[in-house]
This record gives sequence, C-alpha cells and structure tokens, in this order.
Amino acid sequence: MIPYGRQHISEEDISAVVDALKSDFLTQGPKISEFEKHFADYIGCKYAVAVSNGTAALHLCAMALGVNKNSRVITSPITFAASANCVRYCDGEVHFADIDPKTYLLDINKVRALLEKHPKGYFQGIIPVDFTGNAVNMEAFRKLADEFGCWIIEDACHAPGGYFTDSKGNKQLCGNSNFAELAIFSFHPVKHIACGEGGMVTTNDEELYNKLIKLRTHGITKDPNLMHKNEGGWYYEMQDLGYNYRMTDFQAALGTSQLKRANDGLQRRREIAQTYFEAFKNNKSIIGQSGVVNGHAYHLYIIEVEKRKDLYDYLKTKDIFCQVHYIPVHTLPYYQSLGWKEGDFKNAEIYYKACLSLPMYPTLTKEQQLFVIESINIFLNG
Ligand SMILES: *Cc1c(COP(=O)(O)O)cnc(C)c1O
Repeated sequence: MIPYGRQHISEEDISAVVDALKSDFLTQGPKISEFEKHFADYIGCKYAVAVSNGTAALHLCAMALGVNKNSRVITSPITFAASANCVRYCDGEVHFADIDPKTYLLDINKVRALLEKHPKGYFQGIIPVDFTGNAVNMEAFRKLADEFGCWIIEDACHAPGGYFTDSKGNKQLCGNSNFAELAIFSFHPVKHIACGEGGMVTTNDEELYNKLIKLRTHGITKDPNLMHKNEGGWYYEMQDLGYNYRMTDFQAALGTSQLKRANDGLQRRREIAQTYFEAFKNNKSIIGQSGVVNGHAYHLYIIEVEKRKDLYDYLKTKDIFCQVHYIPVHTLPYYQSLGWKEGDFKNAEIYYKACLSLPMYPTLTKEQQLFVIESINIFLNG
C-alpha cells in the first residue's frame, strides 16, 4: 500500500523515546526545552513554544493576539480547517480571500482588495498558509498588513525548511517570524517531523512568548518576577484563563531525534517533486501541478486533472491512496452555517474539483514512485 504521506521512525528515534520514558519526566521536562531550542535554531527564530498539536498552537496564537468577538481575520479557503477555526475558538469572525490559481496560495491582491473595501481597522489579522510547503512571500504580506494595522500568524505546518527570497536577496525560512508576529507548525505523522501529536509556535517577540508559555499551562505562572506576591515554594498564580496544551517529554525526544533527519527528508522530497514534474510536464491531461519551485518544502505534490474522482478511485484499486487537499473551508457545513456559500471563491472551487495529492514522503522508493507515475499515465492515456 502506498499512502499520500507517512512518517519515518528510525531505531535512533525509538531509543530517544525509550530514554525519555526511563527518565524522571513524562510530561513537560528537559526534553521540551531541548526540542524548542533545536527547533528555533533550525527555523532561525528567537523563541519556540512546544504544544500538544498544531491546532492548539493556532488557538494560543489567536489568544495571545487578543482575538475576540470584535475581531475579523482573513485566511485562505484552501487550507486545513484549523487555520480558520482558531479565530472561531476566540469568537472572532473568519473572512476569506481567494487563492492564486497557479501557486494555490492566498492571493495577496485579493487580500488587498478585501482590505480596501472596508475602513482601516475593520480587519485585525491575516493568517497566510505555506500551503503544500510552497513559501508565502511574508515580506509582501508584512507590508500589506502594516498598511492596514493587521497582525500576521503564518501557518507553516506544511513548510519546515521551506523558504522564500526577500527583496534584499536573503533566504527567509518559513516560520522564522521575521515578518509575522507568530508562526505555527504541526508534528502530526503526515507532516515533515512526526511526534505522534505535537505543535510549535515560533516568534521573535518576547512579550508574546511569555504569554504563550503561560497560556500553555492554564494561564499559571510560578515565575517570582511575574507574580504579585509569593507565599512560598508551592505558590503559583493563575493570571489568565489558559489551557493544558503541553507536549509530553517523550514526544519532544522524538521531535528532536526526527529534526536531525529533517534536511535529508527535505532533499528527498525535492527529488521526488523533480521526478513527478519531469514525468508530467508534457502531459496535456495534467492541467496543473505543483512543479519545481525554489524553497518549496513539498509537504504535498499536487496535480490537477479533469477526471479527478475517477483517477482517485482507479489508483485506489492499485493500492495507491492519494488524497484531496482541501475541501474549500468556506463550503464546509459549519462555515456555510455562518453565511459562506459555494460560489464565493471561484479559484478555490475550480482548484478543488481537479486537485489530487500524490504520494510524497522521504521513504517513498524510486520503484514505488515509478509505479505511481506509470499507473497515472495508464489511466490518463487509456
Ligand atoms: C496539520 C495542519 C494543521 C493542524 O495541525 P494538527 O497538529 O493536526 O492540529 C493546521 N494547519 C495546517 C495547514 C495543517 O496542515
């Protein structure tokens, strides 16, 4: 069976987890800060906060930025629902702008047009998504956000190790928060780094960092510098309404061990993308594909075909399990109940009808990939 994505667990990963299980700490202990430090170094930011999953990371970001019932936030209709849901957890209003049909990313011109339709201050934030691992130009989004007084959360779940090149020619790694207030990652098994469940917030802002640390553990602090008084060694203060969004120490041990192979995995993903691109570039039945893009982290490799459902079903009979990313968020029944409807974002909906995510993970063998390509060609040319 060939899935669209899967984790790779090495013997070294297993010993790292076993070591953590034999230590004094099961939940948040020394492995957490170790993972946070290594991850911050890898992404190139000052602070990283490990949490229980990517959705929790998004929720804490929305809380730290003060999203409430008066907030309006813009995101992409082509993303996992969690990118939008985090605004709803805090009672804010989600708005969407359409995607660019070539990159599948939130179209900055559509975001500008939406911002310009309303008085300044109407929208509070933007959540761009490095969809498929294709890096958003965060420098351009920062400029736009500043014009309209908005904050930015970069949803970089698909893109650890991805980058764009800024106007000065510097590589800017996804989620380094040089242009966003906050960025988030997920360590779900299909993502680049697997922790079972897990997530990370990255930032360069010390104040936001301190808020996140507190909100991750019930809004409780034990830091004597942050407490109003101190009644003894047991004393703590719950200063805000937070959650238990902690990651366990053995998950963090797995994360640190996985991170050591992140660059090898990324290189392999880029090779797989190159092979797909070469195989399909002259095929007239492929009406669009992810292609070869500098700095792409290739969480997904997508092709667009007219007979998408038939191809999906055919490949399944060959034990090749592709996937569709994503059903446009604004057409999900919950978002329809909030007033959004089919027809609102044409590019997203046209894309959704044709897109298919092909197997893409570092341990996909050359033979398996050739079998996938051959099966697709047999279907399309047959
Ligand atoms: C996976 C993912 C999330 C959520 O992460 P979880 O760890 O599954 O909660 C959010 N946004 C995007 C774009 C994702 O791919």
